[in-house]
Amino acid sequence: MHLTHLDCPGCGATYDAGRLRNLCRCGSPLLARYDLTAVGRAVTPAALAARPATLWRYRELLPVADDRYVTTLGEGWTPLVPVPRYGAHIGLPRLLVKDEGLIPTGSFKARGAAVGVSRAAELGARHIAMPTNGNAGAAWATYAARAGLRATIAMPAGAPVVTREECRIAGADLHVVDGLIGDAARALAPVLADPAVFDVSTLKEPYRVEGKKTMGYEIVEQLGWRVPDAILYPTGGGVGLIGIAKALAELRELGWLGDRQPRLVAVQSTGCAPIVRAFQAGARRADPWPDAHTIAFGITVPAPLGDELILDALRATGGTAIAVDDAEILADLRAFGTREGLLLCPEGAACLSAARRLRADGWLDDGAQVVVLNTGSGLKYVDALQ
Ligand SMILES: *Cc1c(COP(=O)(O)O)cnc(C)c1O
Ligand SMILES: [Zn+2]
Repeated sequence: MHLTHLDCPGCGATYDAGRLRNLCRCGSPLLARYDLTAVGRAVTPAALAARPATLWRYRELLPVADDRYVTTLGEGWTPLVPVPRYGAHIGLPRLLVKDEGLIPTGSFKARGAAVGVSRAAELGARHIAMPTNGNAGAAWATYAARAGLRATIAMPAGAPVVTREECRIAGADLHVVDGLIGDAARALAPVLADPAVFDVSTLKEPYRVEGKKTMGYEIVEQLGWRVPDAILYPTGGGVGLIGIAKALAELRELGWLGDRQPRLVAVQSTGCAPIVRAFQAGARRADPWPDAHTIAFGITVPAPLGDELILDALRATGGTAIAVDDAEILADLRAFGTREGLLLCPEGAACLSAARRLRADGWLDDGAQVVVLNTGSGLKYVDALQ
């Protein structure tokens, strides 16, 4: 394993990676760091091509030492689908959709759960707990069951109903809570007071990002070790966006990519847009969003802990942040399904609305190669679609 330590992007403190850890003492999330020189000696892009079609193909850039702890259901290496008919409809004929709907548990949360659970098990955790908007809880409960860990999950009553059943079937202790994800977090406080329970809330442990960053490696590898012009990401806690930015930085440091950067775009709903508001105001931090509500439930995160990291990634890449409303999301979901025959999740459809608007504003030009993340399967959202 080439993991060397954890470091704090806020205050620069470093930590030994050999123990279970949550936040830095300054309150910032911690990030995993690797000996990239050693990684570069151990593997090349050409050697990766022959490996299995899962995220574990990037084994040297992942934080699990012992193969016995690798907990997998075949997650990762999702297709990067050209969508020229819908693309032409919105003036972006080179549009691509990375379809995370094909992943075990039906959302890309499985990436973070596979890597996070594997590492937690390796470091001795026996019981994990988290608040969730649904998909993360379903994924972590599923991988915890596979690894033999106990899971306690709290989710808002408004989360997609199937995610509750996924938790129950995986044997998790499930708390269904009135309110939003912050209320679910409060409901878990008594459980987390037990030092034997490991808190795996969004960005409160460093390895979920490591699973989600593999989307960045895959996009680049699938494009023949090149970057697209822009990547549009439906942003809740922002783990995927932070992860993709980290993956691109690692690949550049490895010398596997040139200096060209894709512009990273955070897509939110007009019903919950703390990052968009902070980006537009030029602020370093995002203020909590009151009365959050959107059909794109996975991005209903009124107070993201990783706000600074998200805003840094947008600004460092010449990216932007944009909010779209529920009516547009549903209209684009339908316009896309009619032309491309794929049922997106509302969060993925929000990125199409954003692509359409950014093209209409001239922020994207007609030749741009744009990658939209469809972060889950539309099949999880029967209630919302009805
Ligand atoms: C969780 C989730 C998101 C947002 O992911 P973050 O990493 O929290 O920003 C987007 N789409 C779906 C379907 C999700 O479940
Ligand atoms: Zn710190």
